[in-house]
Amino acid sequence: MDNVNGAKPHFVLVPLMAQGHMIPMVDMARLLASRGATVSFVTTPVNAARIKPVIDDASRAGLPIRFVEFKLPCKEAGVPEGCESFDLLPSVDFYRPFFEAICMLREPLKLFLQETTPRASCMITDYCHWWTSEVAQELNIVRLVFHGPSCFFILSSRNIHHSKVYESVADEHESVVVPGLPQRIEITRAQAPGWFSRWEDIRQKAMEAERTATGFVMNTFQELESEHVALYIESTKKMVLPIGPLSLYNKDTKSKATRGNKSSIEEHQILSWLDSMEPRSVLLVSFGSMVRTRPLQLIEVGCALEASGRPFVWVVKEVEKCAEVEKWMSEGFEERTRARSLIITGWAPQMVILSHGAVGGFVTHCGWNSILEAISPGVPMITWPHFADQFLNEKLVVEVLRIGVAVGIKVPVFRPEEDKVEVERGAIESAIVSDGRRGGRR
Ligand code: UDP
Repeated sequence: MDNVNGAKPHFVLVPLMAQGHMIPMVDMARLLASRGATVSFVTTPVNAARIKPVIDDASRAGLPIRFVEFKLPCKEAGVPEGCESFDLLPSVDFYRPFFEAICMLREPLKLFLQETTPRASCMITDYCHWWTSEVAQELNIVRLVFHGPSCFFILSSRNIHHSKVYESVADEHESVVVPGLPQRIEITRAQAPGWFSRWEDIRQKAMEAERTATGFVMNTFQELESEHVALYIESTKKMVLPIGPLSLYNKDTKSKATRGNKSSIEEHQILSWLDSMEPRSVLLVSFGSMVRTRPLQLIEVGCALEASGRPFVWVVKEVEKCAEVEKWMSEGFEERTRARSLIITGWAPQMVILSHGAVGGFVTHCGWNSILEAISPGVPMITWPHFADQFLNEKLVVEVLRIGVAVGIKVPVFRPEEDKVEVERGAIESAIVSDGRRGGRR
């Protein structure tokens, strides 16, 4: 990989500090470096600590990646110290200050770009980092925008926005047909953008910043979304590089196990448990990094898993495992399901699990990385979207690609204040059972 003048290109990657955005960009950094490019990966101390095994591995392998740590001005922006990623923020009230803290990285980034050698040939910056557009223009550096979600979502959101199709609806739960798609897809304003509309000003700035970008890098692939990629190129009149699934950069178990954060379970432990199960029998239940499930809903999921009779790996976050849930689990549930259950509290090595042949189904919140990680090894999904791009991703999985069944949720839930059941155990169990009838992994 050489520039016209024979020098190696230098990519400067600026990911959004959120697991679902950071993880694919770490994969991208390693991919670029393994092809001979020099890479500078902008991060912060807490995020760097989370991916320390990856940093150490890259250095051992001699990959030309520099992990450039900027201090995130949390205090100045009113964000609790140490909360350097969206999933670490104690509540959604800190989202806006967090965006403000990120914007304050403009000057340090500019200084870095002015001083770094070799000079940056290209910046790849997350869609949400609208402020990098100005930096790139001031320093005359080519900038590509990284879109983390599916092209289907990006295209749908763009078409919905430009057509103003929501302006004709009386309430946010009324369905509209998404304009300009090859398929007839219905969506409500509550589902997309839904709750995210409170950051409409940031979205406006991000869309404005897209205009100055040379093109887009997407974590998708032609065979999956060719029609949507073609329509997006037609609409934006810009270059689109579908370079996914980026997760496939990780070939060996160690590399798959160290993505995003330190796993709460040893690789050999999860592998020997999965090895002991029948092929395609196990269901993985995991809702990504941002969703928080309240006790009553967690217990409902547990009851459905028990009733389904299927072996399962269930990922419960530490913040979710309160005394009430612990008590319920220890008063019979764990005992009754012991022979076929593995409960992981904390961070799971998701890619290790999904790529094991014993796994035949995935109850997912429809985060795009999770979907790609299931599609790659051919694991069908039970879709349970919560917010953001997830409802449109569900439409892609269930209605367009037909590789999943919906659990039936219609109204977004993000971090619910109220402890209540959104999806009843019967509905969860039916989705699990119907997935089994579809024959598990294709
Ligand atoms: N992930 C993981 N272990 C966990 C939870 C999440 O490895 O316990 C990874 C998952 O494999 C994926 C990413 O975190 O790569 C989550 O991204 P996604 O887009 O699916 O959802 P988000 O967290 O952004 O809602």
